[in-house]
Amino acid sequence: MQTEIVIISCPVCGATVDHAVRHNGFQAGGTSIGPSVIACPECGTWVGTNQSEWVEKSFLQRAWFVLQRLVWLIIGSVVVGGGMAIVTGTVAVESHWIDKSQQGTCVLTAFCAVSMLISAILVRNARREIRNSLERTRQSAVDHA
Ligand SMILES: [Zn+2]
Repeated sequence: MQTEIVIISCPVCGATVDHAVRHNGFQAGGTSIGPSVIACPECGTWVGTNQSEWVEKSFLQRAWFVLQRLVWLIIGSVVVGGGMAIVTGTVAVESHWIDKSQQGTCVLTAFCAVSMLISAILVRNARREIRNSLERTRQSAVDHA
C-alpha cells in the first residue's frame, strides 16, 4: 500500500489550496471525506477537491468507504496482530515465562488483544471522520442561514 500526497492548486492563480493524503487504490470510488470545494486563500476561487462530505455521498460510496475500512482492519489484524502474536509467543517461551505447551494459547491471546486494539483504533478513526464531516456540513448550513 503506497501513500502519496496530492496537492490541489488553484486553476486561476496557482496558489496551493489544499493537500490530501491518498492511499493508492483505496481512495477509488469517491470515498474520500472532505469538503467538495475549497475557496482559494489567494483569490477566493472555488476549487474542486474530488472529495465530498458524508451527507453528499451516495449509498454505494458510503458502502465502499465502510468496505475499505474493513479491508484495512483485516490486513492490519492479520499482518500486525499475527506478527506481534508470533513474536510474543516465541519470546515468552524462550524467556521461560511460559511452557512450550502454553505457546498456542499465548499466541492466540496476543493475536486477539492486538486485533481488538487495531479494530478499536480504526473504527474510532472512521467514526471521527464521519462525525467531523457531519459537523462541517452542519456548520456551513448555519453559515448560509
Ligand atoms: Zn487562486
